[in-house]
Amino acid sequence: VHGVALGDFISGESHVSCGRCHLCRRGEAHICERLQIIGVDRDGAFADYVVLPAQNAWKMDPKTPLEVAAAMDPFGNAVHTALATDLGARSVVVMGCGPIGLCAILVARKAGAALVVAADVNPYRLGLAGRLGADRVLDARTEDIPRVVRGLTDGAGADVLLEFSGNPQGLRTGLGALRNGGFAALLGLPGRPIELDLANEVIFKGLRLQGIFGRRLWETWYEAAALLASGVDIRPVITHRLPMERFAEAFALMRSGDCGKVILTVEDGAPA
Ligand SMILES: [Zn+2]
Repeated sequence: VHGVALGDFISGESHVSCGRCHLCRRGEAHICERLQIIGVDRDGAFADYVVLPAQNAWKMDPKTPLEVAAAMDPFGNAVHTALATDLGARSVVVMGCGPIGLCAILVARKAGAALVVAADVNPYRLGLAGRLGADRVLDARTEDIPRVVRGLTDGAGADVLLEFSGNPQGLRTGLGALRNGGFAALLGLPGRPIELDLANEVIFKGLRLQGIFGRRLWETWYEAAALLASGVDIRPVITHRLPMERFAEAFALMRSGDCGKVILTVEDGAPA
């Protein structure tokens, strides 16, 4: 093992790449041809021990709170998505305000977005989005989001969509809120194929769509560390801390949507 030693304070990158395929060799290891995800393709971390390749260990600043170190993976998703394009002075729609969408609001603000509009179907999460710095929060069940966004952007529509909902209607609504020539970063995973009017919703508008998977290795980690060091605080995104034994309750809470990030702790109170 090189680069890490016993007792180091680390966070784990969950994408294990092969290091040899053409994508790895081109600096695209997050979409490696032989990608394995810890907890999906190989044993995960709900265990006493987890096997993590040394190259997947990211050394944390020792001053970082444990629960922040435990949330670097979803925070990295948010950083990767939000920084996929320049947000400086841009109008941004954040579709879906789960833990990753909420982190993306913080990143968009730090990156200099001029307007951040957050949408979700859950009032609890909309409340969090407002407290974390969204200029407007919109209930996707009742509000005409494209119309409201056009009203906030001189009739043009938003420059950027950050899609975290994975919901078919959420995606269509988000694309509908974009101006011609807008950019969409898509992270939310739909549970089934989505029907889109590609001609009218994407092609004639000249939109650019980019799929976002994992975190760029290791660019996103450097960006995430720099954002934390410069004062971005993701702790308000963490709304619940439960001991490991109450995992069933934690998962039920997650499914309800009435939460931000849920952290499980082991016996001594440290995040798992
Ligand atoms: Zn590879």
